[in-house]
Amino acid sequence: YPWQNSWGFSTRSIGGLIMAQSDDQGLILPPKIAPVQVVIIPIFKGTKDKINKYCKDLVEKLSGLRVEIDLKEEESAGFKFNKWEVKGVPLRIEVGQKEIESETVTVVRRDNSRKEVMKLGSLKEVIEKLLEKIQDEAYMRHKKFTVENTREVDTYDEFKEIMQTKRGFLKSFWCENAECEKKIKEESKATTRCLPLDAKEEKGQCIYCGKKAKHRWLFAQSY
Ligand SMILES: [Zn+2]
Repeated sequence: YPWQNSWGFSTRSIGGLIMAQSDDQGLILPPKIAPVQVVIIPIFKGTKDKINKYCKDLVEKLSGLRVEIDLKEEESAGFKFNKWEVKGVPLRIEVGQKEIESETVTVVRRDNSRKEVMKLGSLKEVIEKLLEKIQDEAYMRHKKFTVENTREVDTYDEFKEIMQTKRGFLKSFWCENAECEKKIKEESKATTRCLPLDAKEEKGQCIYCGKKAKHRWLFAQSY
């Protein structure tokens, strides 16, 4: 047999990411792949120079992380909050007079909007830990979603019904005959997505024709 990789790791992956990792405010990027992990936004009330300097020092303090600082004066802080939320940046750091006086920053999470005031002291370590936590929580959330939306189905009636209602992934036996898959596609719009790497060999019956089948394949509708 010739072997060839087919990663399909292109626009589809990005489309899937956007569909899965977003809310009504826009994108929510996982920290590991976010081009900007932290955005620093000054809130100008009082001395701009002081606030700007404080922000620039923060970039220095957080070196090693992907940090962007938004010093545009023609945009309001509120406008910037929305702008960076849409882009999905995992963390926003707000700096105003209050933060400078108390030597702190206000950190806001993109995924759950939680706000926390943090001391400057060990800021980098705390931010790094928080980014890891956000990454892990996103992974667990979506893992749970995938598990909850993957069902083992053994009758074709149930298969069709789920494909018309809840959809998601269905694990069903298939005889590996292209004709069966074609008919299944015509009648339910679902096709095989893949044979999972950990699929064990079993004795089953094809969901469509009832003939012998060795594996449960993953079926779903594609877009
Ligand atoms: Zn079959």
